[in-house]
Amino acid sequence: MTLPKHAQIVVIGGGIIGCSTAYHLARDHKADVILLEQGKITSGSTWHAAAGFHVLNSDPNIAGLQGYTVKLYRDIEAESGQSCGMHMPGGYSIATSPERWEWLQTETAIYETLGIGARLATPEEIVERCPIVAPQGLLGGLFDPHEGAVDPHGTTHAFAISARRRGADVILRNRVLAITPLPSGEWRLDTEQGPVTAEHVVNAGGLWARRVGRMVGLDLPITPMSHHYLVTDDIPALMALDYEMPCVTDLEGFTYLQPEKKGVILGVYERDPRHWQVDGAPWDYGMDLLPEDIDRISPELAIGFERFPCLQEVGIKRWVNGAFTFTPDGNPLVGPVPGLRNFWVACGCMAGFSQGGAIGLVLANWMTQGDPGADIFGMDVARYGAFASNDRYLRETTGQFYRRRFVMAYPNEELPAGRPLKTTPAYDLQSAAGARFGVVWGMENPQYYAAGEPDFIDPPSVRRAACHRFVAEEVRATREAAGLLDAGVYARYEVSGPGAAAWLDHLLSSRLPEVGRARLAPMLAPSGQLMGDLSVTRLATDLFWLVGSYYLQEWPLRWFRDHLPAAGVQLANLSESHLAVSLSGPRSRDILAALTKEPVDSSRLPFLGTAELDLGAVRARVLRMSLTGELGYEITVPALQQRTLWSTLLEAGIPLGMRPIGMRAQDSLRLEKGYGVWSLEFAPSYTPAMSGLDRFIDWTKPDFIGRAAALAERERNPPQRLVLLAVDSADADVLGREPVFAAGRRVGFVTSGTYGHHVALSLALAYVDTAVLEAGAHGLEVAILGQPRPATWLREVPYDPQGRKLRG
Ligand SMILES: Cc1cc2nc3c(=O)[nH]c(=O)nc-3n(C[C@H](O)[C@H](O)[C@H](O)COP(=O)(O)OP(=O)(O)OC[C@H]3O[C@@H](n4cnc5c(N)ncnc54)[C@H](O)[C@@H]3O)c2cc1C
Repeated sequence: MTLPKHAQIVVIGGGIIGCSTAYHLARDHKADVILLEQGKITSGSTWHAAAGFHVLNSDPNIAGLQGYTVKLYRDIEAESGQSCGMHMPGGYSIATSPERWEWLQTETAIYETLGIGARLATPEEIVERCPIVAPQGLLGGLFDPHEGAVDPHGTTHAFAISARRRGADVILRNRVLAITPLPSGEWRLDTEQGPVTAEHVVNAGGLWARRVGRMVGLDLPITPMSHHYLVTDDIPALMALDYEMPCVTDLEGFTYLQPEKKGVILGVYERDPRHWQVDGAPWDYGMDLLPEDIDRISPELAIGFERFPCLQEVGIKRWVNGAFTFTPDGNPLVGPVPGLRNFWVACGCMAGFSQGGAIGLVLANWMTQGDPGADIFGMDVARYGAFASNDRYLRETTGQFYRRRFVMAYPNEELPAGRPLKTTPAYDLQSAAGARFGVVWGMENPQYYAAGEPDFIDPPSVRRAACHRFVAEEVRATREAAGLLDAGVYARYEVSGPGAAAWLDHLLSSRLPEVGRARLAPMLAPSGQLMGDLSVTRLATDLFWLVGSYYLQEWPLRWFRDHLPAAGVQLANLSESHLAVSLSGPRSRDILAALTKEPVDSSRLPFLGTAELDLGAVRARVLRMSLTGELGYEITVPALQQRTLWSTLLEAGIPLGMRPIGMRAQDSLRLEKGYGVWSLEFAPSYTPAMSGLDRFIDWTKPDFIGRAAALAERERNPPQRLVLLAVDSADADVLGREPVFAAGRRVGFVTSGTYGHHVALSLALAYVDTAVLEAGAHGLEVAILGQPRPATWLREVPYDPQGRKLRG
């Protein structure tokens, strides 16, 4: 077919992701789409994938989307008439260590929250259903009924055939050579068959996606890595079965096993992985395999051959060593690229057969409706900044992800790859004081201070960690005197200009503060879903600071820029140029007073008031606000002065009982006040009425984004509400996403939790069915480490419910 001159949308890439995207655009939105493929359909990673799929994912939103992908296979097969070769015998993830077994029990409870239907299985069941599994050391497993595999060729063609039937043009053997923005706002694509213009471009270039990105000056944080699997001859034990054996993932053994006719596929995630062509596959790379490197993967193969002893006897039909792309966290990059008009990505996908259908669905929604239709932050291209594309950073983080693909992640574990990258100026002072750091968007941030114990190591644990005692001390100091937190993990945006107030008034659902005051300001999507839980401070009539989460920077910025008027408003990102610390606790005012000659009493600095103060040698912007529930201040300075500010505050505060504190203490303190935070309690999956953020909405405002939807919601009772629970638990706390039960029925789920050191309660924030709450919330239980524990709804937060300390 000849190349049209113009299309509304050009999708680059005929792998599983590009074909699914073109299909959904054509099916759901009747879009005018051209798919351009340099070779044949499936020419990239897709043709040689093992093409296994599963629904389980630690991100519930992604798990939901994987469920959609799996369900779609039957539909697309029926629609296209092309077999997907789907088989879904289910799969066991097996545990061979006590920690893993405990972890699987937690996971099973969490999957119950998602309604996936996963369940625990005994060793006897696993060996009976999978007779090639050696029982040695087997403690149990997690059974996912939605695990299986497809034929990658048939499945991708099924999408391509259906897309074509619904009007998409699928053009093969036509490489895109260059992409140029036109003054009209459209894109010009130069291809081997000539030029084509398009309003929107989707980079679904898979193995080549990094190179395609560079055509528009974009450096994507993705890299191909090589991956091996072997395919065996028929195995007598499987030939004797009258059912298909389920898949088996040996989590301690680094291998996965899939039935393949009457033989098996055994894939390996080795501990010594290899990157391949970090910049993307060369243009002349065809449908080739990489040479096998069996020596390198032999340690993991040996474990696999012990777990599945029949592999020692059976012939190996085929080795596959191919490449597919990874991002630092293993999730794909999807969505509109910040700063590039109508340029979209759908790449970096390492699990195309679990996620491909859903990526096509959400991207098509997003391109045509302006909203992906689900909370997909975990896949959003805007979750990374430029730092993540650095070659060394990318190698280290993707390598870490690959080698830990099946390795258990403990909640108190901080992984080392790509660190330290960004350190605040006070980093050395914090290190010297015993800080143990976590990392947020590349920035080192103290989690707690192992004060006085330089050799302390926190052993990985799913129960209360050994660092608990340090956190307890930090909480005590904050409640009794003061705590000093490095608040570098906040993002800060400056909005100024004659149109600033009118623009923010439209963007934010709250009333704008007076000059010198701050306010909490939920931001909504037109659908009424939450888009942000910012604080807004008015520094002058036409000058505002918005503060949100540091890791989320690119995400709101994209939203702001999409809504920015042509003139009259300037937007600047101050997140790296300015740094904040939080000082809170009953002595915090005394500490400030010792450092400035200005008055700092409530008349000068009331709750949510702001002032510029000289604190010792630094001039700082001080805002009276805290997340600990204490009298407290956020103190912001140009980044280069943060070290001086830190040491100045330490000098004044230590004699008054102040301690430096980390994020773990802040979590404990915020939970005692029942405060939620973005991505846990507040996210696009939730609404103002569900989350309680509706109390910050100014209902008298005639116009703001999401107003109509929020008003409509106000008329109804939301199905669930965010509440604080105290859980009866002796040595473990919730980790997040655990189900909440009432009379044995699932009625909600936990969003976050920890131990409240001051109130001596294990606390959890949870969304719980409104009907259950209205009926008194009797007999609540929360599963901790898979075991239901009694829980009580705290109608009043356990610490200072009247907020006297905060406002005092
Ligand atoms: C050995 C191996 C085992 C795997 N096992 C599994 C598994 O069990 N389960 C699973 O879910 N996934 C598995 N995968 C990963 C899976 O293959 C990928 O997630 C998936 O194929 C990614 O699809 P894609 O469409 O993003 O990329 P690709 O398949 O790489 O497709 C990109 C397409 O874009 C085209 N293209 C690129 N640049 C241009 C250009 N400039 N102009 C025109 N066309 C262009 C390419 O020719 C190619 O066809 C495996 C992969 C390998 C290699």
